[in-house]
Amino acid sequence: MINFTVGPVMSEDYILEMGKEQVPYFRTPEFSKIMLENESIVKTFAGASAASRVCFVTGSGTASMEATVINCFNEGDRVLVVNGGSFGERFVEICRIHNIDYTEIKLTPGHTLTSEDLSNYDGSHYTGFIVNIHETSTGVYYNPELISDYCKKNNLFLVVDAISSFMADEFRMQEWGVNVMITGSQKALAVPPGVSLVVLDEAALERVNSNKTTCMYLDFKSMLSNGERGQTPFTPAVGILLQIHERLKRVEEIGVDKEIERVKNLAEDFRSKIKDLPLVFFSNNMSNAVTTLKVTEGKDAYSAFESLKDEYGIWICPNGGSLKHEIFRVGHIGALKPEDNDILIKALNDLVRREIL
Ligand SMILES: *Cc1c(COP(=O)(O)O)cnc(C)c1O
Repeated sequence: MINFTVGPVMSEDYILEMGKEQVPYFRTPEFSKIMLENESIVKTFAGASAASRVCFVTGSGTASMEATVINCFNEGDRVLVVNGGSFGERFVEICRIHNIDYTEIKLTPGHTLTSEDLSNYDGSHYTGFIVNIHETSTGVYYNPELISDYCKKNNLFLVVDAISSFMADEFRMQEWGVNVMITGSQKALAVPPGVSLVVLDEAALERVNSNKTTCMYLDFKSMLSNGERGQTPFTPAVGILLQIHERLKRVEEIGVDKEIERVKNLAEDFRSKIKDLPLVFFSNNMSNAVTTLKVTEGKDAYSAFESLKDEYGIWICPNGGSLKHEIFRVGHIGALKPEDNDILIKALNDLVRREIL
């Protein structure tokens, strides 16, 4: 099986090997040391300030999205939420459930966020801005500099879900004035699902510490105080945290820029090789992590996904909802090699020959 989905993705062999080990007891100096190293490396990879902190949440990415909203905002806030697909919609839902006053900036699927979209809200006394920098459901990567400038100008507390972008696209937390960055274990970190991470800058820490606690399990205050000594309030997904540690250490050896370049090269290689296929890019603004492709009129994107899975042993990522039959996604994150692209291209050509595509 070759997995080109957007997560869980394939892990390197050294990560798979770790998966068969016994899970150790964790209230130990040894585990604390590992966690402190995890925090330090994640901060470096995110381009975070020295005073930033990281919360390790046992739960998939959505747990950290929800935790961020309830720990960083309250009834006094008014937030702008970019909604360009199902992950933007998820933040809208979280704000709604937790009574955070929000306005959504709804985008046509496949379209990026423009300065015109933002100018409608200039000077409207919002306090926060929430965005999935890469809206993975449609494969649109928004311009981080545009968002950064807008939030600086309007003095907005900026929350960025970079779950599918971290370690696939560059991230400059401090330079862009991002206050909170969220990521997860099963995307470009390429270990099993189960842990998500939240990087908080000084302003975010201040917000967290002055906000009232509304959820025990997802309370950043207790995660942060336990984290000072490399611990977590409750039993974390210990095995995944050890795998994260090994993966971070190995990427640190070559440098995160090199890893991002590797993903970028894979994406560019794939994008150049589909030129002659009857497929078009769904967006002009893509992350290195994913290529979203639209099939031609009369063809069915979901059938292509099923055929690749059942007949070729290749997993691409289907779409749900109204775009189910029109588009599919090809991920470039995880333990993929250029040869894997060639195998997929060959299979796609075969689908064309068989008139499935
Ligand atoms: C994968 C992903 C998430 C998290 O989804 P989970 O299934 O909860 O891990 C959130 N946001 C984006 C942009 C994602 O790609």
